[in-house]
Amino acid sequence: MQGNPEFMRQAVDLAVENVTLGRGGPFGAVIVRDGEVIATGVNRVTATNDPTAHAEVTAIREACQVLGDFALPGCVIYTSCEPCPMCLAAISWARMDGIFYSGTAEDAADAGFDDAFLYEEMKRPVGERKVPEVRLLPERGRESFDVWRRLMTRVDY
Ligand SMILES: [Zn+2]
Repeated sequence: MQGNPEFMRQAVDLAVENVTLGRGGPFGAVIVRDGEVIATGVNRVTATNDPTAHAEVTAIREACQVLGDFALPGCVIYTSCEPCPMCLAAISWARMDGIFYSGTAEDAADAGFDDAFLYEEMKRPVGERKVPEVRLLPERGRESFDVWRRLMTRVDY
């Protein structure tokens, strides 16, 4: 997989600009398809009171709007820093073709953005995680899936 340094420069510039303009965290992302920028994103967590508004997620949301689709096959993402587990999942759910990054998770951790605890958390059994997870009404747990399977107009994804 061959990356274009020009798009990475753009992602890093967006990250730096986001900080210098006081708009949010030090992260930027650019989504590219066939050598063309489809969307860009910056971290908007504090600006929009949205803990999920990481640069990659912001860029994915915009790219999906631009392309009018819920998936982004054929697209790659250039992100100023290695994606966190949430963004890695979002990129996977969006079925993107690849990830290019500049800074590493260690670089982010040095600046106070440490996501290592999430990888540790996922390895732990459900009952031993930091955020308690408790199953309730297990007899209703399959109800929506049964309706989904019978739905003739469903859009599989
Ligand atoms: Zn993230």
